[in-house]
Amino acid sequence: MSQHFETNAVRISPSKSNQKEHSAPIYLTSSFTFDSAEEARATFADEIPGNIYSRYANPNSSDLIEKICVAEGTQDGIATASGMAAMFGSIASLLQQGDHILASRSLFGSTHQLLTRVFPKWGITSTYGDISDFQNWDKLVQPNTKMLFIETPSNPGLEIIDLEWAGKFAEAHNLILVVDNCFATPYLQQPAKWGAHLVTHSATKYIDGQGRVLGGLILGTKELIKEVQFFTRHTGPAISPFNAWILSKSMETLAVRMDRHCSSALRVAEYFEGNSAVLEVKYPFLKSHPQHHLATKQMSQGGGIVTLNLEGGVARAQRFIDQLQMISVTANLGDSRSIITHPASTTHSKLSEEEREKVGIHPGLIRLSVGLEHPEDIIQDVERALEKSK
Ligand SMILES: *Cc1c(COP(=O)(O)O)cnc(C)c1O
Repeated sequence: MSQHFETNAVRISPSKSNQKEHSAPIYLTSSFTFDSAEEARATFADEIPGNIYSRYANPNSSDLIEKICVAEGTQDGIATASGMAAMFGSIASLLQQGDHILASRSLFGSTHQLLTRVFPKWGITSTYGDISDFQNWDKLVQPNTKMLFIETPSNPGLEIIDLEWAGKFAEAHNLILVVDNCFATPYLQQPAKWGAHLVTHSATKYIDGQGRVLGGLILGTKELIKEVQFFTRHTGPAISPFNAWILSKSMETLAVRMDRHCSSALRVAEYFEGNSAVLEVKYPFLKSHPQHHLATKQMSQGGGIVTLNLEGGVARAQRFIDQLQMISVTANLGDSRSIITHPASTTHSKLSEEEREKVGIHPGLIRLSVGLEHPEDIIQDVERALEKSK
């Protein structure tokens, strides 16, 4: 193993088959064979390592997990069929009826639905804390609070939560700290270093990086992952070998892609800051970002997402989107192609206007996932659409 992220991401690979292939094969098999009844018994009993059934583990998912664990600095992990399977699994496996979750208010839309509509059905409740009010989070901890669940930077508000603070807070209150690290990726930020017990990902976004497959990850300490693994093995959110193979291959290029996403995003953010049609440009590494000092403390670069709050609300945002010539209008992010989303009318339309405002989703807010095109072409497309949508 190397000291360097890039080398590990490229060089960690499954052991070669007897074909001596250079690129890892895809193990499209549901189950694995045993040479004897005794080997089958011992493998099932966990006395010897070995594959059993692809709902449990598969060489492609194991390869992906090994790579990501090195990148995140975590001991073990599980790969799932989607990011939401990872979010759900990380909570459902460790909590039970009567338990309570303290969470940061700015969460991915479906995670918000999990906490407010799904888990309450099984007696697991949650409370949101606001980042403007960290001093008072102590008061939100109940005797039955078991977990602190946060997302940083948040989607789409780009709020930053102090991971050092979160690690200490979780320790002081004996909480399991879960961090959704989707926006930063392990290349920019490693929550485990600050005390996160579990790190979750939607691998669909930057880890895939080319808008092809869904995938999710739950990473953490051996002890906790063992418990989560019991849950995922028996409830079945396993990733397909093909998707795991794609995501492992994508890890090889994560560093170079993120370098470009980040440098272009900063350039776009700086360019539009001060534009008269834009009320606010938000990007973690802009000096004007309210938590700029935290972003630079815990992230090595600012990520690939920029938000623009357009003057003129929903109508202006929609006119602007209709004038784009190159940038895609779709709900994904972290793709090689730049993507624009209008959260208030799409991903976060189920929230009330008041709920949206609380997490910084203004009517005119545009989320721009800065892709790998030349940054001047991205700037030109946005600038022209701003001009034409006046
Ligand atoms: C997309 C996303 C998810 C959900 O992941 P899927 O792969 O779409 O299921 C969770 N958290 C964040 C921050 C996301 O952006």
